[in-house]
Formats: sequence, C-alpha cells, structure tokens
Amino acid sequence: MNKTFIQDTLSDLQERGLKRTLRLLEGPQDRSIIINGKKVLNFCSNNYLGLANDPRLKQAAIERIHQEGLGSGASRLVCGHMTAHQRLEEKLAQFKGTERALTFSTGYMANVGIITSLFGRGDIIFSDRLNHASIIDGILLSQAEMKRYPHKDMIALEEMLKASPGYKKKVIITDTVFSMDGDIAPLDHIVELAKKYDCLVMVDEAHALGVLGKNGKGAVEHFDLAKEIDIQMGTLSKAVGSFGAYVCGSQALIEFLINKARSFIYTTGLPPSIAAASLKGIEIIEQEPERRKKLWDNTNHLKQGLNELGLDTLASQTPIIPLGVGDANLALEFSEKLFERGIFVSAIRPPTVPHHTARLRITVMANHLKSDLDYLLEQLSKIGNDLCLSLRR
Ligand SMILES: *Cc1c(COP(=O)(O)O)cnc(C)c1O
Repeated sequence: MNKTFIQDTLSDLQERGLKRTLRLLEGPQDRSIIINGKKVLNFCSNNYLGLANDPRLKQAAIERIHQEGLGSGASRLVCGHMTAHQRLEEKLAQFKGTERALTFSTGYMANVGIITSLFGRGDIIFSDRLNHASIIDGILLSQAEMKRYPHKDMIALEEMLKASPGYKKKVIITDTVFSMDGDIAPLDHIVELAKKYDCLVMVDEAHALGVLGKNGKGAVEHFDLAKEIDIQMGTLSKAVGSFGAYVCGSQALIEFLINKARSFIYTTGLPPSIAAASLKGIEIIEQEPERRKKLWDNTNHLKQGLNELGLDTLASQTPIIPLGVGDANLALEFSEKLFERGIFVSAIRPPTVPHHTARLRITVMANHLKSDLDYLLEQLSKIGNDLCLSLRR
C-alpha cells in the first residue's frame, strides 16, 4: 500500500483550492461573531431566525436538564423515549398538520434512515440533481435504482417517469429549498407528476421550515400541499435554532419507521434538553411571525442592493443568496478579502457544488441590522472592483 496517499490527497486538494480547514468560532452563533480571533459579521449561518442563541431556547434546555438530566441513556426503543421527545413529536405533528411525527438525531440520519427503510432493490427513486448529500447517501445505501433528473427540470422528470415501468415502488425525492442555490422546488408540478405516474413524494424542508409559508411551516405550506406529500422531513438545526430532525406523516409511516429505520433504532435518542429547546423554537416560530417578516425584509433589501451592483445571485428565491464565481481559488480569494474587512461569507467549492460553479454563499438572518447589510454591499462592491471578477452578469 502506498502510505503517502493521505498526504498526497491533501496536497492535491490544496493545489486545486479545494482543501478545507476548520475555523474556530468563539462565543455563541449571532449576527456578529469571533472567528479565528477576529470579530466579523456572520453571513454564513443557517440560523435564519436568530434563535440559536435565544434566551428562551437556552432556558428551555436548562429547565429540562433539571427535570430529566443530560443524556437520554439508550436508544428510544430500549429505554430512551422521554417526556421531552414525546412533547416535541406531538407539537411537530400538530404544527405540520400530520397524524404523527418522529424525531431523528440529525437530518443526515433522518434521510438515510427514512430512505433505506422504505426503499430497496426493485424500487426506483427520482432525485433532483442538486439534492442534499444525505439524500444521495440514503439512496445509494438503499440499493434502489437512482434516477437523477436535471435540477427542477419537470420535462426531464416526466420523461424518466414514463420510461420507468415495472418497479415495485416509485418515489420522487426533493429538497424544497436547495441549500447551495437558494431556489425553490416546483412542488406543485412534482405532485402532479407523482399523481399521474403513481409515485410517492418525499420532501426535505431543512431550509424551508421557519422561512417559507404563511405560518413558517415550510414549502409544503407555501404551495398548500399538506395533504399531498407522503413524507415530510426537515431539520431542527437551522431556523428552529436547535439540533436534530423530524419526519411528519401518517400514523402508519411513523410506526413503520420506528420499526425499520436503522438510524432511529440503533442510536441513542436526542438529549431531552435539545428536544425541549427545539419545541420552544417551534413555538416561537408560531408565535412571532415578525421574525420571518424581518428575515424577508432583510433578504429583499440585500438582493436589491446586489442587483444594483450588477452581481449575479444565480436563481436565489430565499435568504440563501449565492454569488456565482466559478473558479474555486477565486471564490476563496474573494472570501478571504471579505474576511479581512470584517465579513464572514464562506466560499462553497466542489464537491459541495458542481465543478466550475464555486460561489460565495451569503445567508441572511432576521437579526441582521440594515447597517450590516449595507456594509456587506459596500465591501462587495469595492472588492469586486479590485479583483475584476467575472461576477458581473
Ligand atoms: C442541513 C441539511 C440536512 C442535514 O441536517 P443535519 O441536521 O445538519 O444533519 C439535510 N438536508 C438538507 C437539505 C440540509 O440542508
């Protein structure tokens, strides 16, 4: 065995501008943070509503620690199903208007567990080309046939559906808000096709919960399709400000997953404090629509400014705003220049996004101040000129 392969791989990544390193964030997640010892404005968190450091979430967690302790002790099926889990799941089902809900320890584990338990050999899964890595890994592990359709291309999807008779089960799986592009899946069309071709539909609402829909319930609410979606998955780690994930659906679906989803069965339940904080986060999303309004006001303000600068925000329709750069090294250089000026926007590079589509990915939060957004615009404009970037449309 060539023992230098680890170092060789790292050197290769470094040369291609693709090496990743961890940066230390000291203190809580907020609009302004300390990264590697430097105070910067935070434009790369998924903490859309600013709840990750909300005193009420923290208090809910602390109280639950006093009531139920720290660890959940075992798999939920063995002796780890606690009051906090039960309450959170009841709330999720009520909030999403489904018969029942089930939580998983992370969104990654939820997708892997849901997909591998429901689908396998002899089944076929239609998956948007830009779906999250956890969906792709779930599909690969399931051993079902995977058909990846071009991003949001409903004509191509229909062609694939037409050309795929004879499978035991069929399902279309899609992110509702795409995490690196910030655009929204055409759920209405997807549901129509699913009906026409007798397919199930599974959605991943990770970036939509708390962000989209009149009451913040996500894209399913935005499109008014609650009755039509078979499997509604989402995370509690983004707008909810906590940690973990859920799936909402029928009583039978949840009982099935409790019995079959290996990433639910063979893992320890969430700490009760985290479940309690998630419940509080959902309650705040319900009770404080003004947070969502502020998020969208900020998003619209920033987008307008970016458009006035002539910057290409790709297809963004949400608080996830990519600035297309193309070259990975250039994206890094851009991100470093912004950092020097007190702005933290990460460069997103392959393999997270397709080759030659490196980008800066800005995420807007409800707790950004207008002056934060204006400062970002000002610095982007200066750096864009300095680097003569091909950012312009
Ligand atoms: C973040 C994310 C996940 C993973 O959720 P975690 O709880 O962080 O593991 C899954 N799907 C999508 C679309 C995501 O953006």
